[in-house]
Amino acid sequence: MRDKELGLDKWGQVGYNTCGMTRSHVCQLVADAPWVLQGTVVERHLRCRREGCRVCREQGGHGPVYYLSVRGEDGKTRMVYVPKARLGEVGAGVAAFRRLKEGLGELAAGDLRRWCGEARRRRR
Ligand SMILES: [Zn+2]
Repeated sequence: MRDKELGLDKWGQVGYNTCGMTRSHVCQLVADAPWVLQGTVVERHLRCRREGCRVCREQGGHGPVYYLSVRGEDGKTRMVYVPKARLGEVGAGVAAFRRLKEGLGELAAGDLRRWCGEARRRRR
């Protein structure tokens, strides 16, 4: 059974407007985040060993069960089990990381634009 990547919208993420992102916005994002998790929440159905199991046959396995798919430093993907009751918390951490990443990207783009503008003025 293939992993199904879960849309973060499911965990109540609202699109965060990163336009005009400033340093203090990014700092606020860090301050507001309960925690940050880099990865993807995936849903799986697991096959059991019972012969002729109806659930496995009809639903492709038991579940759903949830994992946080994490890319390790060695480049290998690890699956970290997430109990269903803590799905919201984990989803919030994943969403917080993505918002921060977007915010930092926006900040870096702004700084680059500023640098390039200054470089043009320096050449004059
Ligand atoms: Zn089964």
